[in-house]
Amino acid sequence: MHRSEITVDLGAIRHNARRLLEALDGAELWAVVKADGYGHGAVDVGRAALEAGATALCVATVDEALELRRELPDARILVMGPTEQVAEAREARLELAVVRDGEIPPDIPVHLKLDTGMGRWGRAELPELPANVVGLMSHLATSDSDPDFAAQQIERFREATEPYAHLTRHLANSAAALRIPEARFDAARCGIALYGISPYNTDPAEDGLRPALSWRSHLAQVRLLQPGESTGYGRWFVAERPTWIGIVPVGYADGFRRDMTGTEVLVDGERRRAVGTVSMDAVAVELDRELEVGAPVTLIGDGILIERHADIAGTIGYEIACGIESSPGRATRAIRD
Ligand SMILES: *Cc1c(COP(=O)(O)O)cnc(C)c1O
Repeated sequence: MHRSEITVDLGAIRHNARRLLEALDGAELWAVVKADGYGHGAVDVGRAALEAGATALCVATVDEALELRRELPDARILVMGPTEQVAEAREARLELAVVRDGEIPPDIPVHLKLDTGMGRWGRAELPELPANVVGLMSHLATSDSDPDFAAQQIERFREATEPYAHLTRHLANSAAALRIPEARFDAARCGIALYGISPYNTDPAEDGLRPALSWRSHLAQVRLLQPGESTGYGRWFVAERPTWIGIVPVGYADGFRRDMTGTEVLVDGERRRAVGTVSMDAVAVELDRELEVGAPVTLIGDGILIERHADIAGTIGYEIACGIESSPGRATRAIRD
């Protein structure tokens, strides 16, 4: 038996792409598949998103783009982060976001990034635009949290780019695509919602999204702790009464983070708490009775939401998803089409 299995449901990806396209009301959907598709698998997700109507794929680095290019010869691919690998990008027919001051690389389609308030990448003002500039972009800092600041950014972007309405103007991420119609412009770069994870860390069903990833394992050990006995490093969990616990062979090296202690998973179909210290390769769950070794455990999926794990860990769904380790030595990954 494998330690754990990750399943990615491409039907859910296609559903979420269609949901975003409906929200975008005519603007293009560009699927963001950086960081190996937020841990879901960039090529599979990218292909599914294109099948469902997305018209481009966005990644952070040229190397991520080259991996996509090998499998998707005709896809439009935009590299959103800064890069020195311009020749390779040209050769692979990529498009580049130019996110810093300085020279605009020639002979490759370029999207110029304006800083309208993110305070990270992008120019303060637009320069004279050479003919290979095909797009103008910016990025919202607070589309999930502060609509007033987002509105200011949208207005700055609108003003600065108004004279260039013939170029593709793109500003929205998932949170803006779903809930801020004014941010749509010509295209939206959507990542998190495509995976069925809420950009607001709420239940994704509220926005009509379907989680695509499930992560399942099993009990590899079941034992009875007597009062005063503990499980795990540091003795964080000490039994007050005779207590059955199960050990799941997944730990923080697999992406089940140490600060997720206390979160709920499904054990044999019932919600149970992870207790004690999550170790590198194992986590304990508190049971209400003796269960068989091999009993199924769902860490994510079947109603167990990434967003709840993120709440417990004091982070966002993005970080939980990107942190799931799917290398063959740790987990198997299956695609459901
Ligand atoms: C990652 C990223 C996105 C996608 O954001 P989501 O919140 O995942 O939709 C869009 N634009 C840029 C520049 C990004 O880096």
